[in-house]
Amino acid sequence: MTATNGVSKAPGCIPAPNPGQTFWQQDGNIEFSDYRSTETLPEQTDILIIGAGYAGTSTAYHLLAEGTKNSITILEARGVCSGATGRNGGHLRPDLYGHIPTYIERAGLEAAVEIAEFEIAHVPAMKKFIREQGIDCDFNLCRSIDVWCNEQSAQNAKTVYGQMVAHGLSYMEDVVFYTGKEAEGISGVKGAKACASYTAASMSPYKFIIHLTKLILASEQVNLQTHTPAVSILPDPSGGYTVDTSRGKIHADTIIHANNAYVSGLLPEYEKNIIPCKGIACHIAVPDGTKAPLLNNSYINRTEDNTLSYLIGRNDGGIVVGGAAAKFKPFKYQWYNNVDDSILIDAAKDYYNDYMQRTYHGWDNSGAAVRQIWSGVMGYSYDSHPHIGSVPNKPGQYINAGFNGHGMPVIWLSAKGLAKMIAHGAPFEKCGIPRLFQTSQLRIDRAQNGTEGKGDILGTASFGATKQ
Ligand SMILES: Cc1cc2nc3c(=O)[nH]c(=O)nc-3n(C[C@H](O)[C@H](O)[C@H](O)COP(=O)(O)OP(=O)(O)OC[C@H]3O[C@@H](n4cnc5c(N)ncnc54)[C@H](O)[C@@H]3O)c2cc1C
Repeated sequence: MTATNGVSKAPGCIPAPNPGQTFWQQDGNIEFSDYRSTETLPEQTDILIIGAGYAGTSTAYHLLAEGTKNSITILEARGVCSGATGRNGGHLRPDLYGHIPTYIERAGLEAAVEIAEFEIAHVPAMKKFIREQGIDCDFNLCRSIDVWCNEQSAQNAKTVYGQMVAHGLSYMEDVVFYTGKEAEGISGVKGAKACASYTAASMSPYKFIIHLTKLILASEQVNLQTHTPAVSILPDPSGGYTVDTSRGKIHADTIIHANNAYVSGLLPEYEKNIIPCKGIACHIAVPDGTKAPLLNNSYINRTEDNTLSYLIGRNDGGIVVGGAAAKFKPFKYQWYNNVDDSILIDAAKDYYNDYMQRTYHGWDNSGAAVRQIWSGVMGYSYDSHPHIGSVPNKPGQYINAGFNGHGMPVIWLSAKGLAKMIAHGAPFEKCGIPRLFQTSQLRIDRAQNGTEGKGDILGTASFGATKQ
């Protein structure tokens, strides 16, 4: 990838043309998988959003909600919600203690707690928005149960829990921690040595984004162009930018990069900061007419050998579960710096066969089996934080990307903050976004120089949680 004379161009980092289908996409409405508001690409737009996943569509929604009078064009390389958002685990689970101890060490208690509280705020914010708009997206407010089956990891988790409580954080009052026999009884997980629970939610990310897309397209200000990848951005000497796409050029005054894992394709300076990394998830169901215990909580399960899975139970009895990074991590070429979501990750594709029988009490004779399995591409951030705000040295360009495997409790309010910045010129500090999320030359340089953050890519934080 190269950047010369202000031209951003990187043909390598665009989405694969033929992603495999996911359970969510099958279940939802596919009308925006091939949609163009106008037959031809507009020649000009005030605001151009690149990417129609969670980040792109929610930024467009919030810009309209902030009262912008500007025209907005959204370019999407494939269909709406065909990227990570339509391929994820449906788990809206704030991180209360997984990565927070690392952030405390790096940046101090106040900055770290800001992140936990921001993520926690997503649960009531999403619940309220979904209820007010009457969005049918299988939203379920639940307890998320963290499970440790390895004795040493369980003890470490208990120590970290104690340290977090000792900080006097009021949000820790929502967390209950169990050890010994109680852990297995409460979690229902075979061989659990410890478990903790707190408030979280699950939902269909696809149904949510499709509804959001309908809401934004109700405004005549918005033009959506699917199957139109942006391929380069060139400053226009008379102001703004000329963006070249597979279907011609469009001039934009403001550009919002909401293409997550693929961001370095157009912003090569982020090549070391946001790296495309593949993950895997699947849908499990029991045969028709068979009953298995309903799981009305969500889970983060860690096995005896510390393989982590995130899991949600659906009210139709189905399960969506993913993870297993420990199984494929050694095979770097299968997942790291890899954008091919048309194929599974070989080293993990069989991991979820019999997962429910292996993991949960009461499922042994359920006949539960994987019905659909898919891969997806996440934007792994070098220091674990997303990059939000003004792109350094590129006036009029903004970024909202790098959400790791953890965008659901981060994107909605990040997009809201970014919309305030763009619609009203509000400074980052006044937009309600954690300070560590602000993109900066310092963060870009740190990744390029290879200091700090090492091990965050699919790494384990001190409480044993990977970003999920
Ligand atoms: C298998 C898997 C499981 C996950 N599970 C969870 C979970 O349970 N909970 C959770 O919080 N998070 C989870 N995540 C992460 C979460 O899905 C992401 O953090 C989030 O969806 C990112 O949203 P986004 O809009 O930034 O990116 P995306 O949804 O990837 O959207 C980016 C869009 O940009 C488009 N695009 C790219 N390049 C261009 C271009 N040049 N021109 C035009 N368009 C372009 C892409 O086609 C894509 O549609 C998971 C991810 C995966 C892959």
